[in-house]
Amino acid sequence: MITVCLLRRHLTAYLTCQQPYLTVDMRAKASDIKITQYLNKNAGDAESTLNVLNVLEELLSSGTDRRIHYMISQGGSESLLNALVKNGSRFIPNYTILLPILYLVAKVGHKDCGIGKKAEEAGAILLILNLLKNNIQHARRAEACLLVIQVFATSVSTAKLIASNQGLDIIYNLIPNYTTKNLQTIKASINAFAALLSSVDNISSAVSKGYVSGLLLLYEEWHSKDTKHSAIDILQALLNCFHKIVRSAVGRDTFVSQGGIRLLYHTTQTCSLNICQGLLVESSVQLMRWCLPKTPLPLRSDQSVYCFPLPRRHHLLDVVASDDTSGEIAGDKMEKDYQEAQSKDYDDDLETDLKKLCLRPPLDRPKDLLPQYSRLCPELSHDFLEQLELSSQGRSPSSSSSDDETEKCNNLSLHSFRRGEKSAVFSKTENGTSGQTKSAASLFKAKDFYSHTGILNSSAEVGTKARETRKEAKSGLTNDQQNNKSEGNGKSYNSTMIDSLIDIHGVDIPYHEPRTYHAAATKTKSVPGFTTLAFPDFWGQVPSPENEPMAPRKLNIQRQKVLEDIQRFLKTDTINKVVFDLEDDSLQFPPDKPDSLRFFSSFECGNLRKAIQVRRYEYDLILNADANCSQHTQWFYFEVSNMVPDVPYRFNIINCEKSNSQFNYGMQPVLYSVQDALNGKPQWLRTGTEICYFRNYFCPVRGSQKTTFYTLTFTITFKYKEDVCYLAYHYPYTYSALRAHLNLLHRSVASSKVFFRQQIICPTLSGNSCPVVTITACPPSKCDKDLHQLGKRPCIVLTSRVHPGESNASWVMKGTLEFLCSNDPIAQALRETFVFKIIPMLNPDGVINGMNRCDLSREDLNRQWCKPDPILCPTIYHTKGFLYYLNSIGRAPLVFCDYHGHSRKKNVFLYGCSVKETLWQSGSTVENAGLKEDPGYRTIAKALDRIAPAFSFNSCNYMVEKSRSATARIVVWKELGVLRSYTMESTYNGFDQGIYKGLQINTRELEEMGMKFCHSLLSLTIDTKALYGKSLINHMNLGQNILDHKSHNSFEDDEPPCVEEIEYSTESPGLKGDDLELDINRCMANIDAEGSTKRQMSGEIGGYYQTFTTVKSPTPSPDNAGVH
Ligand SMILES: [Zn+2]
Repeated sequence: MITVCLLRRHLTAYLTCQQPYLTVDMRAKASDIKITQYLNKNAGDAESTLNVLNVLEELLSSGTDRRIHYMISQGGSESLLNALVKNGSRFIPNYTILLPILYLVAKVGHKDCGIGKKAEEAGAILLILNLLKNNIQHARRAEACLLVIQVFATSVSTAKLIASNQGLDIIYNLIPNYTTKNLQTIKASINAFAALLSSVDNISSAVSKGYVSGLLLLYEEWHSKDTKHSAIDILQALLNCFHKIVRSAVGRDTFVSQGGIRLLYHTTQTCSLNICQGLLVESSVQLMRWCLPKTPLPLRSDQSVYCFPLPRRHHLLDVVASDDTSGEIAGDKMEKDYQEAQSKDYDDDLETDLKKLCLRPPLDRPKDLLPQYSRLCPELSHDFLEQLELSSQGRSPSSSSSDDETEKCNNLSLHSFRRGEKSAVFSKTENGTSGQTKSAASLFKAKDFYSHTGILNSSAEVGTKARETRKEAKSGLTNDQQNNKSEGNGKSYNSTMIDSLIDIHGVDIPYHEPRTYHAAATKTKSVPGFTTLAFPDFWGQVPSPENEPMAPRKLNIQRQKVLEDIQRFLKTDTINKVVFDLEDDSLQFPPDKPDSLRFFSSFECGNLRKAIQVRRYEYDLILNADANCSQHTQWFYFEVSNMVPDVPYRFNIINCEKSNSQFNYGMQPVLYSVQDALNGKPQWLRTGTEICYFRNYFCPVRGSQKTTFYTLTFTITFKYKEDVCYLAYHYPYTYSALRAHLNLLHRSVASSKVFFRQQIICPTLSGNSCPVVTITACPPSKCDKDLHQLGKRPCIVLTSRVHPGESNASWVMKGTLEFLCSNDPIAQALRETFVFKIIPMLNPDGVINGMNRCDLSREDLNRQWCKPDPILCPTIYHTKGFLYYLNSIGRAPLVFCDYHGHSRKKNVFLYGCSVKETLWQSGSTVENAGLKEDPGYRTIAKALDRIAPAFSFNSCNYMVEKSRSATARIVVWKELGVLRSYTMESTYNGFDQGIYKGLQINTRELEEMGMKFCHSLLSLTIDTKALYGKSLINHMNLGQNILDHKSHNSFEDDEPPCVEEIEYSTESPGLKGDDLELDINRCMANIDAEGSTKRQMSGEIGGYYQTFTTVKSPTPSPDNAGVH
């Protein structure tokens, strides 16, 4: 017999021989002595075996898992299994030895992924089942066997083998009705049963034997009788079984048909929310979500309600004759590509091919197509002499209306384009507000306001009349006829009403004038032919004067909302009444129902397809897919009225597509109250409580069942009874707003100083104009030198709103435009230094029709820049052509920036392009030491970091991604060689840094960002010092507080995980493997305790190890003897 000390040392050496601190001597011994030798050699000697086992156990209990893994690698599992078989197959096993072996097999096997196969090879499977059968009356031994079975059953084939030997039945019958005894053994039985359910065959077998309903009954009984919460482990183990069962279709069907969901729902209702029971509730909620049957959205089709026939090329003047494919786009493929691009692994996505990064691709069109864009440089051909003379005589030069340009534009256009009406002529009155000519006033009648009609006139008669008028307009007029009709008959009650509304309640909103807006809107062409204006767009808005902090997330809010949804399946008290449907005219203007909200979305930028009242104060809302598409839902904007004040209404937008949302991180939707607006507070306010965003059980009508949707839920409490409110994803900014805004800006500038010209770059697919604005300073004199200087000014090209759902980008652009037209000395300096070419809305059709991502052509226009189709993507084609033209006359932009919105990040930041940074980030081995790159691409970001509180320098990056290779930023950088080519991303949510930290963004900060972007351009002027010398620096708000606003915190790439993410995990919480380990360790600790008791009783004293050497083999106990 080996002495324990030696044994211990050898084993220590054996298990830790990788450790450098071992002595040479010990390592030598370690190499000689193997645990297999110990176990095998001493197989017949109980005392020695026990010693080996105890030392082993002690060694494995301390230290890290590395010891166990090392032991497994050295054949430790096999040795233990052999010892198990040898000792377990004796006629009368010695349980003093066998118990520690079982525990060790469980402990080591738990970490050995090959344990099932090894156990089968060692012949341990049948043995362990026999041992279990023989020890059913002996709780501790049975528990040890069950722990081993749990470990063996991690292999599916082993689980099947155990079941084919009646293992399933033996273990199922071990689970008793409610008792307070032997809870640990019962728990081990249930967990062993769950482990066997890793095989689908075993689940089917359990189903056919009625075990599922049996387990449900057991759960119900244990749950109801366990009033003292002492059997939570048992309940969790049962839930663990259910989690396994519902993974197979037959298991799930049986679970549901046997009332599983109902049972779990009711048990969760009676759970108090202490931590332990909280785990039960969470596990139950996961189970229920998993089992809820997939439900197709309640729609006739996934396709958008808005359908626009796309032009086919043979109907058009074919400029690109070589390409004879049909104009139809394979929408599905595009959507697939888009998804692939979205899911690309970031590092894989980086372009590492130096050739692709540095080679400039050839021109994408014949060179002789470029001179047509010379018209978009009016500053170069403008007769400033005449203008200067006129202004010196005190007369204003004739202003160039955008619509004059439309005609020229038509010559350029590639297909027929119906010219818009002449814009209303405005004159400035003395007090600065706009007056209106007769023709404009008559235009005004074309639109009618359903919404605020109800507010101004409480009489029902007027309301009905308004509705009838609108119905008529809707059904009787096609889009093309609207404008003609609008100029017809005289004053209607509506225009009178609106006029008086403006007279009584009108507020002075900078750069907004309702009548100008209305005039612009009459010319806007929408796919459905909108005849109504949304009040907020017409009336205008000012940002809230109050800070709007991000909304705190309520604890357990997601669980609560999910439970409310589950309730719908169990109770029949849901109303499920369709109260609004874009496709059903009878639901467009329903009569006032006292118990339902009224919805409306048929206006510019509106998006709501259907509303279903599910409970008295709860509505499911379905968004409309992008026109001509079946997806891209995210943007919403709709009107709601007929509310009961001071009652919380729950809204669920049930067909969101993105897998996570800033709505889980403090973002709120925005709400505009007409009542508040008329009371002098025309504000979009962040509103809503109980906001969360989670995966739901809906699937597309026809698409894959695997496609999941997400629910955005929020609760709104309305203030007023007779109110009409508007809810939106973000501050709306319509195409008509842009047109009106540009007209007002044009009128506001001092034409002797500011050269402002609005032109049309091209018509869109549905015949709207895509404006381009030129802003620069008029030359100070008519001398050649000054005119020459103007021709030499570098161009800055800014674009925005290529993605229609990104209204934040339009507000940033509004800030930029207003600043550049202002009297601010920095603006003046910028105008004198640069020529600004601004295309503020690259996707007018998308914006007008309430789309989120695409254009009518179903394309994401910011993936079309490589080779834009002249017919299907005209705005991109011509914008790129214009950039090529600028390049061809040596005026390639100094800066190109495309404004966007970012739905997953906070703050505002830039994406640029850098070869060096891309190669470095990708870990590319390409030798780039010799590569020269102008670091100037960082200048603007550095300047913004200093001056723009919303800007986050740490969020910027300069990677060139393959999936973004057809974006404006990368194409302009690569094809036109523009060093400073950017995407500027603005959050929809708010800020986690700087002086705005913790606040949600509003239009004030968005517009400020547009202004600060202009400020940052000063950093590019060669003569910066001269500007600073003119004390312009003072105007840059470079006060100490601004300079120091940055915390310069470390880079935080993404959101922290949601506090309480509920996912379709198949494991119930707390049962992910660690629990088994805890059980094994507890058992092992018990045997130690018991051992020491025995030792005490036998009067042994002395050290731990000495004690073990003298332990005698115990005599078999009576019940032991009986089982053989
Ligand atoms: Zn975008």
